[in-house]
Amino acid sequence: MNEELLLECPICDDITPHEMIKKQESKKHLKLTVKCLNCGYIHDIEKTLKLKDVKIIISRYGESEKKVSQLPTDELLKVGDKINIDGEDVEITSIETTKRVMSSKVEDIKTIWAKSISIPKKVGISINDRNTTYSVNVLVPQDYVFDSETTYRVGRLFFKIKMIKTEKGKFKREIARKIKRIYAVSSKPVRNYEDLTDNIVMG
Ligand SMILES: [Zn+2]
Repeated sequence: MNEELLLECPICDDITPHEMIKKQESKKHLKLTVKCLNCGYIHDIEKTLKLKDVKIIISRYGESEKKVSQLPTDELLKVGDKINIDGEDVEITSIETTKRVMSSKVEDIKTIWAKSISIPKKVGISINDRNTTYSVNVLVPQDYVFDSETTYRVGRLFFKIKMIKTEKGKFKREIARKIKRIYAVSSKPVRNYEDLTDNIVMG
């Protein structure tokens, strides 16, 4: 906490450099405890944040999603900043005001481009279907659990897991983060299955 700020000090009765001691922030409210570096006086500054709807385009593995997020108008954002949008951590890759800029106050921003850094895990699955082996990749959360009890579905293909390969060996049940590859066999369609069709990714 050694951010230096220029603020008005009631004792010095002037704009002086301040050191931030404490920052409490909620979506619409900001409370700073600051110390005047000129006279040493410690005081609080409270502020209600004005929010603005900003268009944000988030890319995840080449797919992008357009969202609108409420951000405090006087927050300064720059390319490379990490922000949280609806629970997802994203890194700003581009900012547009009336043109592309490296940084800007939210007030002037029209569009933000960002990439997701809450990156899911890509898991490769080999599915043996009689004479053919299909290879599919799915994107799932890092802690998603695969197991050999469940019947899964990708597109028209239903399958059950025979073996999960990890760094440490072969398993019947494992979380996505640790998986190197999954080996499975096709199975009959069942009523209760885990549908991974929407999780399929190319390559
Ligand atoms: Zn002062």
